[in-house]
Amino acid sequence: MPRYRFLADAMLGSLARWLRMLGYDTLYAGSLSDYSILEMLGRDDGRILLTRDRGLCRRALNKGYRCILLREFSVEDDLYILARKLKLELRVDPSRSRCPVCNAPLREARREEVEGKVPPSILRLHDKFWICTGCGKVYWRGGHWRGIEEVLKRVKLRINGEES
Ligand SMILES: [Zn+2]
Repeated sequence: MPRYRFLADAMLGSLARWLRMLGYDTLYAGSLSDYSILEMLGRDDGRILLTRDRGLCRRALNKGYRCILLREFSVEDDLYILARKLKLELRVDPSRSRCPVCNAPLREARREEVEGKVPPSILRLHDKFWICTGCGKVYWRGGHWRGIEEVLKRVKLRINGEES
């Protein structure tokens, strides 16, 4: 399974967070100019540009960089297109995830480590925690987890439906 690395353009912040949760190193271009984006791709061999901008994609491809043009408008559609194209592994394993906020890897944390950093009710309810090695944010499998799994399940069903 190749570990793809991505650079998501300003329109794709939400997709960037999903890819990080799935464990893919994903930079977010935010307010970077097209020029800076192309320069970044030049310095970072193999990183794939994800964009909705046809012109930017063409310029990247002309320079020999990798780019995937995303035409859909929901994260679910974008994930579907990427997963089909690149055979992404649509599974969130927090010990392999990257921080959705800053893209640094997560590591498992002991309860004592996260005490005071999460609400006491969360500490009572959960016994597995992960902490971002970059920004220190703490994660656990909370209520939003089911929503994440649901979306991934729907995308997988769509792909499997086509293959059979
Ligand atoms: Zn972080």
